Order: sequence, then structure tokens, then C-alpha cells
Amino acid sequence: MPSTQLAADLTQSHLRFIRRIHRMRSIGLGLGMLCVGSGLYATDAPAAVWALLAFNGLVWPHLAYWLSRRNAHPDRTEFRNLTVDSAMGGVWIALMQFNLLPSVLLAVMLTMDKLSVGGPRFASRALLWMMATCAIVAALNGFAFAPHSGQMEILGSLPLLIAYPLTIGIATWELGHKVRLQNKLLREVAVVDFASGLANRRHWLEVVRGELARHQRTQRPATLMMIDIDHFKQINDSQGHTVGDQVIEEFAALLQHCLRETDTAGRYGGDEFAVVLPGSDLSEARHVAERALERVRERLFAQGLRCSISIGAAEAGPSTPDAGSWIRKADNALYRAKAAGRDRVELAQ
Ligand code: GH3
Ligand code: MG
Repeated sequence: MPSTQLAADLTQSHLRFIRRIHRMRSIGLGLGMLCVGSGLYATDAPAAVWALLAFNGLVWPHLAYWLSRRNAHPDRTEFRNLTVDSAMGGVWIALMQFNLLPSVLLAVMLTMDKLSVGGPRFASRALLWMMATCAIVAALNGFAFAPHSGQMEILGSLPLLIAYPLTIGIATWELGHKVRLQNKLLREVAVVDFASGLANRRHWLEVVRGELARHQRTQRPATLMMIDIDHFKQINDSQGHTVGDQVIEEFAALLQHCLRETDTAGRYGGDEFAVVLPGSDLSEARHVAERALERVRERLFAQGLRCSISIGAAEAGPSTPDAGSWIRKADNALYRAKAAGRDRVELAQ
């Protein structure tokens, strides 16, 4: 992937990150304002403190988002903003004179979201900031201490207590869902040849090795077919590479339709394909091959092109002790099919 594309993808992921945090912060600090307000109510806090609370709950979430967006490293700015959230939490705990319920709730919520976003180290650092600002403001406030929580504080704390964990739960589920989708995509990338949609060579070879081992263990028959498109170079030369690619894609789909669920077709390389047919002996494989030959003959490929294929088939047995010798045997049969005039199947004896 070009580095500019990589940088653009990274920026997009950072922007998604700060948007997610913006949503969480707007809900958390908005409801946190009620929680802190209930704790401040009994303390006769001056108007400036209430103004600061309104700023923290209503303005700061959007200011923080704006600061992160305009910065060249939105993620770094966002981590700083998250630390500011915790530091402000410490200020409110001291100003509430350690009113027990809202203080504990604030400390726990502000640490839980740090844990979910940045892990234990980041959460510990943010907690230290919270304790530091709390200690300073408590000292300035004459170490006022009134931990009793009444009905008002319970009611003020409930919205945050209920809604914020749910918000974090949803955000965590969304992330987990995305990770599961990405893992699925990664597994596909590792085994699929994207131009044809069939197994890639590496994965197909693994299937062949597995099938050969099973044959050696159980004597269950298994046959392997190597298939090559005839005169494919001419298609490329006369119609262009793009049409060639299209023919490969269409042929791969056609081949897949000729097979059973248990058969595995792979792109061996270029215009060469390979199929392993578990449970099929040579005569059954011949039927499958004849059917594929017939369907290719009848088919009009991209741009109305007609083409044909040649197939070599070999059954697993004493002369195929490993995957390499089995493939070579089928490849030799394919070579004979080409030499005998193409558009046919040859069986290895
Ligand atoms: P033959 O009947 O003997 O198989 O003749 P051929 O022209 O098909 O010869 P060969 O199989 O040796 O050549 C395959 C050509 O396929 C060579 C290569 O340029 C072309 N090719 C390989 N991979 C691709 C691909 O992904 N797309 C396209 N369009 N062409 C490819
Ligand atoms: Mg060919």
C-alpha cells in the first residue's frame, strides 16, 4: 500500500477514534454535571464554581473535539484531553467535599473509560492526575470534608450510573464487532486468490497435503486434476490483459460449478488451475473433467470469446508418496493432453 494511502487510512482511524470519544464525553460529562451538581448543592458553592461546572459539562466536550480535530496528531491530543477529564474529576471531588456517592461514581467512571481506551497504564496515569488536582483543590478549600450522601445525591448520580456504562458497553461491542469482521477478512486474504475467488496456491497445497495424508491413513481414493487454459497467450495478445483477467475470473466460477462441495479448486498460477477431489477415483474424476471440458466449449466468455482447456488427472497411490510427486504426475498427464492436441483430459496411469 502506498505510504500516502497508509497515512490517509491512519488519519481516518484517528478521526473515528476522536468522534467516538466525543460521543462518550458528551454523554458522560453531560450526565456527570447532574451528578456533581447534586454533590455541590449542599456546599454553598459560589457562582464561579457553577459556571465552571456548566463549562465542563456542556462546552468542554465540543472544545476538546475541536482541539483534537485541528491537531496534526488527533489521537495524541485526545489522550491529553482524556487526562484533562480525569484532572477535572479530581477538582470536582474536592469541591463536593468528598460527598461519597458522586465522588466514588465520578472516580470509577473516569477510570473505567481510561481503562477501555488506553489500558491500565494510561488509566493509572490519569488517576494520578485526578488525585493530584483533588489534593491541591482540597488544600485550597481548607480540606472541607462532608462525605454524607442524601436523597438528592442519589437522584443526581443515577443518570450517570445507568447511562454511562451502557454507552461504554455499546462502544466496546462496536469495536469488538469491527475486530471480528477484520479477522474474518484477514483469514480470507490468507487463503483466497482474489483474481479468481478460488483457493490460492499456498492454501490449495495445504489441502492437497491433508488429503494425501488422509488417503495414506484410510486408503480412501483421492484424485488431483491440473487444468490449463489453451492458447491463453493469444487471448491476452488479441483482446488485451483485462479481457484475459475476465476470462480467468469467469472460468474459475465455471470450474467451481462443476465441482462438489468437498472438492477444492485453486489457482495454481497464471492460467493454470488445480483441483483436489477427495473420495473420487480416476474414472469419477474423468467424468468431472469431461463435464468441465464440455461446459467450457459451450461457454461464451468475455467479449464473446470461445476457449478450451486441457486437463491432466492423477489418483493418489503408492507412486505418490508426497504432494510434489502427486502434482507432478497430474502435470505430466496435462502435458500429454496439450501434446495430443489440447481440449481433452489425459489420465496418469
Ligand atoms: P498453452 O495452450 O500451451 O497453455 O498456451 P498458452 O498460451 O496458454 O501458454 P501458457 O499457459 O504458457 O501461458 C499463459 C499466459 O498467461 C502467460 C501469461 O502472460 C498469461 N497470464 C498469466 N497470469 C495472468 C493473469 O493473471 N492475467 C492475464 N490476463 N494473463 C495472465
Ligand atoms: Mg495455457
